[in-house]
Amino acid sequence: MAVTFDHGGGVRSVRVPIPDNPLGHTLVYVVDTDRGPVLIDTGWDDPGSWDTLVAGLAACGTAVGEVHGVVITHHHPDHHGLSARVRAASGAWVALHAADAAIVRRARETRPERWLSYMAAKLTAAGAPEEHVAPLRSPRVRSLPGLSPALPDREIVPGELLDLPGRRLRAIWTPGHTPGHVCLHLEEEHPARLPGHGRLFSGDHLLPEITPHIGLYEDPDDATVTDPLGDYLDSLERIGRLTPAEILPAHQHPFTDAPARVRALLDHHQSRLSNLLALLAAPLTPWQLAERMDWNRPWSDIPYGSRTIAVSEAESHLRRLVKQGRAEPVPGSEPVAYVAV
Ligand SMILES: [Zn+2]
Ligand SMILES: [Zn+2]
Repeated sequence: MAVTFDHGGGVRSVRVPIPDNPLGHTLVYVVDTDRGPVLIDTGWDDPGSWDTLVAGLAACGTAVGEVHGVVITHHHPDHHGLSARVRAASGAWVALHAADAAIVRRARETRPERWLSYMAAKLTAAGAPEEHVAPLRSPRVRSLPGLSPALPDREIVPGELLDLPGRRLRAIWTPGHTPGHVCLHLEEEHPARLPGHGRLFSGDHLLPEITPHIGLYEDPDDATVTDPLGDYLDSLERIGRLTPAEILPAHQHPFTDAPARVRALLDHHQSRLSNLLALLAAPLTPWQLAERMDWNRPWSDIPYGSRTIAVSEAESHLRRLVKQGRAEPVPGSEPVAYVAV
């Protein structure tokens, strides 16, 4: 498949590969403005990905040195990874929501050992067995990937238009996948006049065939009990109400009928919550719950890193059930077990 695609109306995309990842690629969107192209996301920080981005911009009739600005949907490395390099090559500004900018700042300032001990404590509290926690205490783990992402120059303010001369691009705050995830609404008539309201760059919030990961927000310095799944479900409804004519996601392919996709995802999470509630007829720790949940393969076949993510996903669903008053922690349990009310 071609590396670049013309979506019409001064919007193109470059398929920037993500090495060794089943997602395959990030769609970096190139939006023409009166001051030069503005990128929505930049892709994974890898030499091959960089070369693809540079060649893709050339194929779009521009050059990386011409980039005027970079708008980042969220801090994950497949979106924000190449931002520093694009900025160094072009002098472009980089914009990110404040909540994700705080994560970037923390990642740069927190020593890897602090992160590892935080993760170990969290997993222990979730009921993870010692063999899962032990590798985090290994002295051989000295550095973590993706800990030096670019600090942004600008803040994406929810509800406001971004500084794209000649275009109308509005930031829609869609927390859930990350606390500062934003979708970007191009409030211009669809170039093929599809019914609906403009086009939406949806990042990882709304994808045509994948349910984005909703885990706990990670912050060693903040004990606030957040509800990422509740945030995500609210954010989904917000996007459904926008009724964009077309969705331009950061992975897979563009699609239409956003309200139908929103309904499918809301239904998915509702049935998942009901299934978890049935499992919680007897008390379970988050780890035990994750072991019993339906994944895309048996628990015994899930690799180490994905188990950590799965437990985080189980915990975000538990938080939602507790918030709804449908489950509660068992008093005195250690690690804490939860049971249906
Ligand atoms: Zn992501
Ligand atoms: Zn992504």
